[in-house]
Amino acid sequence: MYFVSTRSKDGDRFSASDAIMKGLAPDGGLFVPERIPQLPASFTMQHGYAYAAYEVLKPYFEGDEAESDLLTICEKAFNFPVSIHKNDGKDTLELYYGPTSAFKDFGARFLAYFMENKLKKTNEDLTVLVATSGDTGGAVASAFYNREHLRVKVLFPKDGVSDRQMRQLTCLDNNVEAFEVDGTFDDCQKMVKDAFMDESLKGLTSANSINLGRLLPQVVYYVWASFIYKARYKKEPIVIIPSGNVGNATGAFWAKAMGAPIKRIELALNANRTIVDYLDSGVYKPRRSCHTLANAMDVGAPSNMERLFDLFKTYDEFKANVSSHSVDDYKIRTTIKDTYDETGYVICPHTACAEYVRRTYYKDEPTIVVATAHPAKFESIVEPIIEKEVPIPENLYDMISRDCSYTQIGVNYKDLF
Ligand SMILES: *Cc1c(COP(=O)(O)O)cnc(C)c1O
Repeated sequence: MYFVSTRSKDGDRFSASDAIMKGLAPDGGLFVPERIPQLPASFTMQHGYAYAAYEVLKPYFEGDEAESDLLTICEKAFNFPVSIHKNDGKDTLELYYGPTSAFKDFGARFLAYFMENKLKKTNEDLTVLVATSGDTGGAVASAFYNREHLRVKVLFPKDGVSDRQMRQLTCLDNNVEAFEVDGTFDDCQKMVKDAFMDESLKGLTSANSINLGRLLPQVVYYVWASFIYKARYKKEPIVIIPSGNVGNATGAFWAKAMGAPIKRIELALNANRTIVDYLDSGVYKPRRSCHTLANAMDVGAPSNMERLFDLFKTYDEFKANVSSHSVDDYKIRTTIKDTYDETGYVICPHTACAEYVRRTYYKDEPTIVVATAHPAKFESIVEPIIEKEVPIPENLYDMISRDCSYTQIGVNYKDLF
């Protein structure tokens, strides 16, 4: 199996390991498989999630140098529960039982163990630079914590992250360093870019969401959940995914293309409605993002669209396969409240976008809503709405009750080293 760039499909071919270690293709495009493989005939869920992950991912690593290590990497990365909240066919896939209580743990942990496995063999060291406005940095820092041959430098904007997010970023020691930048998230991102451009700095890498090593693990839980759904209800579900950069949703489209029993995939957006406008008009216009209650989805120019355009080559094909709705802050609030009042189930603002879409457009259809974060991560939004405290999961509590330590710096990337 080989991977190619979205921008030059007839150009160079890369192994999975090369693609993951590079992050971005040399021409600036995103790595995609030459063809989407089919699920292996041997696929079974009888041996638990990590083994099923190995089976789903195996065809992508066929002939790769890491092929024989794949099972071990999956067992180390996916050592936490994947839970389905069943509600008579209006089910919710809870992807928030990893160490940082959000779905980004799946991708970040797979990438960290994958890179460690590779670097142990070559005895090289790498430093991961991440700029974060919230969830990504926490998931990456936690995943790379104490991984051999790897260091992490996390940059976050002063006054730009919530208290609990900040604690997640700054509670780690050893190989993880946190920097509070006296600037905005854009400044943080620019510092990371500047550092990569500086040729005197060697051994730097990124772990952002366009890395294939973060995307592939996001295929697995769609295969897993749709098979469980089909076995239980004898129907194929419509999967509704809270989306920003659409990396999570790209995982679902690849899962469906591999043969997972999914009827349709729907992207639930917040007020950042670039994809809805494209579906309406046929003209794709990325724009600046606006702030919403579902802040991990505040994206105006979704980075993984390039992969979806590669999968669905024309507007008609795109429209035939992708649905999307935009949900404003008012609807996010009422959905959190209505869901809680009617069922006692508590959801985060991101999940609420998907739940709103289910309630409004797919009321009597078989559905899986994807819950991307634990509501306790967004307690300052959720608690006043439901007028009740949200219990903190143990892993989150352990993390936010540790000592914080970070370095305050300006906007010059040289201060990172
Ligand atoms: C990152 C994130 C999203 C958006 O995922 P994409 O892959 O960028 O579409 C949604 N919800 C939460 C909680 C997130 O952290």
